Formats: sequence, C-alpha cells, structure tokens
Amino acid sequence: MHELGLTQHLIEIAERVARENGATQVRAVKVEIGALAGVVPESVEFCFDVCSRGTLLEGSRLEILFIPGRGRCYDCQAECTLDTYTVTCPECGGFSLERLQGKELRVVEVEVD
Ligand SMILES: [Zn+2]
Repeated sequence: MHELGLTQHLIEIAERVARENGATQVRAVKVEIGALAGVVPESVEFCFDVCSRGTLLEGSRLEILFIPGRGRCYDCQAECTLDTYTVTCPECGGFSLERLQGKELRVVEVEVD
C-alpha cells in the first residue's frame, strides 16, 4: 500500500508548514487528490490516522479535495473526463490523450493553533 509513504510525506510537509509558522498543533489539513494520482482517498484517510500519531497533526482533521481527471485529445482536440481506465478519446477513438488535470497530490492548506 503506497498510500502509507505518500501520507507520511504529506504529513511531513504539513508539519514543516506548521513549524515555520511557530505552531504547536495542527487543527486541519487540506489535501488535493487527483483522480489520476493513483491514490485511494480512503486509504490516505486511514493512513493519516495512523501516521499522524506523535506528530503536530495528531488529532487534526483531514480534508480531502477530490480533483476529477480532465484530458484533451491530440488528434481531435476534444476535451473529456478522464479516469485511470480511460485510454481512448470518447470523440474519435484516438489513443493520444494529454492529461490536463487530475494528477494532483498536494497539501493546499494547513490550519494551525
Ligand atoms: Zn479525439
């Protein structure tokens, strides 16, 4: 389960932000997770509880913003919704899809005391 390492990484980032702001306790963390990031939000939530113990984030609230996947076809320029299973353009059937949005995996906000 690679979400464990990723969640630890997100917690490290949030802790650093909190320390830089002189905080001793994090109240909430907002994280963006894209549909194409290859991460299961529920797993991140689960890992967050475990990984945040003993850190500034212990007991804090995790808010996940889910970013849907968007793509554009190189062949016909049509834009479409993408998920990890989309391999062809729904308009022309082409295989050349550019991923525009949905790879996000980042801390966007840290609320501290
Ligand atoms: Zn197309």
